[in-house]
Amino acid sequence: MKQDNRGWTDERVARLKSLWAEGLSASQIARRLGNTTKNAVIGKINRLGLISSRPKTPTPRNGGMENLKESSCRWPIGHPGESDFHYCEKKAEPSRPYCLEHCDMSYQPKNEKEKADRVARKLAGIAVAGS
Ligand SMILES: [Zn+2]
Repeated sequence: MKQDNRGWTDERVARLKSLWAEGLSASQIARRLGNTTKNAVIGKINRLGLISSRPKTPTPRNGGMENLKESSCRWPIGHPGESDFHYCEKKAEPSRPYCLEHCDMSYQPKNEKEKADRVARKLAGIAVAGS
């Protein structure tokens, strides 16, 4: 701990952590902290295990459900944690996370008119399906 702690007071470590959390690069952090180098900052970040805690991109694509193919519907069926829980996995609509049916179910109407339109479409769909 002794030789590893060169210049890293609790205060500086706290500062480093918050600057890192803000998304600053190692060299920017080194400049802010002063009296240290980019490499020292990187080393410290590594030792603190902060590298992996930093989100790589602001919005992970497809919610990070890697076990599903990109083109399959990820509508959850059942309850997470239960043995019969699974995803729909039908063919998803292009650039959408769900199949046509679940795209429709996930869509939140913005106003009363859209809500009414949606109900009307649904009724029409049922009428067609039942004929
Ligand atoms: Zn689906």
